[in-house]
Amino acid sequence: MSLDAVLSRLDAEMPKATERLFELLRIASISTDPAYKSDCERAADWLVADLQSMGITAEKRKTPGHPMVVGHADGPGPHLLFYGHYDVQPVDPIELWNNDPFDPKLEQTEKGPVLRGRGTADDKGQLMTFLEACRAWKAEHGTLPCKITFFFEGEEESGSPSLVPFMEENSDELRADLALICDTAMFESKTPAIVTMLRGMMSDEITITGPDKDLHSGYYGGIAMNPIRVLSRV
Ligand SMILES: [Zn+2]
Repeated sequence: MSLDAVLSRLDAEMPKATERLFELLRIASISTDPAYKSDCERAADWLVADLQSMGITAEKRKTPGHPMVVGHADGPGPHLLFYGHYDVQPVDPIELWNNDPFDPKLEQTEKGPVLRGRGTADDKGQLMTFLEACRAWKAEHGTLPCKITFFFEGEEESGSPSLVPFMEENSDELRADLALICDTAMFESKTPAIVTMLRGMMSDEITITGPDKDLHSGYYGGIAMNPIRVLSRV
């Protein structure tokens, strides 16, 4: 299967691809603020429709929070799960923006063209590069190069409270040979990065017990440690 034809198609389709990305960027899907709940729904609906326009089975799925988008496409070879998120960070302080964050712009800069708008770099831009790659591949070859499950959430910027329960409830459907997360960054402006590992997040509560009164440092300093020193060493 030729990659050149797919890449040429992607180049030719760039203006249309940019317009599709802009449509998604114009939806103010801020997950942390209940005022934008319907916008989050709209972003999920938009993604379902976009996947369906490529002939991919897709639907919006309810969670206690913002919906998931799950899509499936058949293909040969291994089964890939692709994860992305359609929610974005809040935009405050709004006065520091030069433009409306939800009116994306393509700007020509000294370093080349730059897309500006909330979500361009996290994660709508990354997510759409993958969808555009799939669209171009499918258009050239009629099918995708492998079996793909598309999995998009709308709560990444608010701690993903529904993600693990949803994955547990739908573990058979979401099981794959390989998971690809496209929620990372460029190495520099012209070099995409391939990230092989991501840190997780851990929270814990640590109690350090120390003296309940001031102790003379000359008598006790070496033995009774100040709790803040113990914590610093931890
Ligand atoms: Zn992200």
